[in-house]
Amino acid sequence: MALETTLILFKPDAVAKNIVGTVLSRFENEGFKIRGMKMLFLTDELLADHYSHIADKPFFPSVRGFMQETPVIALALEGDDVIVKVRDLLGPTDSKAAAPGTLRGDFGDKEGDAKMRNVCHASDSPEAAAAEIQRFFKDGEVF
Ligand code: ADP
Repeated sequence: MALETTLILFKPDAVAKNIVGTVLSRFENEGFKIRGMKMLFLTDELLADHYSHIADKPFFPSVRGFMQETPVIALALEGDDVIVKVRDLLGPTDSKAAAPGTLRGDFGDKEGDAKMRNVCHASDSPEAAAAEIQRFFKDGEVF
C-alpha cells in the first residue's frame, strides 16, 4: 500500500448537474482526505497541457469546448492507493460501458456524448498525479 495524492477534476457536466457534492461524498465515504480544492476556468493553454495525449485526435476540439462550458472544480485527494482506487470508482472512459455503481455508470451521459461527458477526470499514474497537481494548484494550495 502506498499513501498517494491524486488529482481529480469535476467536469462541466458534473457542475451543471449539481452532483459535485454527491460525487465528493463517494470519495469521502472511501476514507480519502481532501488536501486541496478550488474552482477554476480551464484556459486553452491549460487544456492543451492537460490533454496533450489527445491533442491530435479529431474529437479534441469538442473536448476543449466541453471542458470550457463552465468552470471546473479541481480536487487534490489523498489516500492509500488512491490513484488506482479512484480510477476504479470512476469506471471506463465511455459512460455507456461503465457498470452501475461506478461514477461514470451512475452519472455519466448515456444518450449523446457518452465518451466525453463522463463526470470526472482522475490521474492515471503517480507520475501523472504529481504533474497534474502542479498544473492545477500553486505552492501552498495543497495541505
Ligand atoms: P480518461 O479520462 O478516461 O483517462 P482519456 O485520457 O483517454 O480518458 O481521454 C481524456 C478525455 O477525453 C476523456 O475523459 C473524455 O472526456 C474525452 N474523450 C476520450 N475519448 C473520446 C472520444 N472517443 N470521443 C469524445 N471524447 C473523448
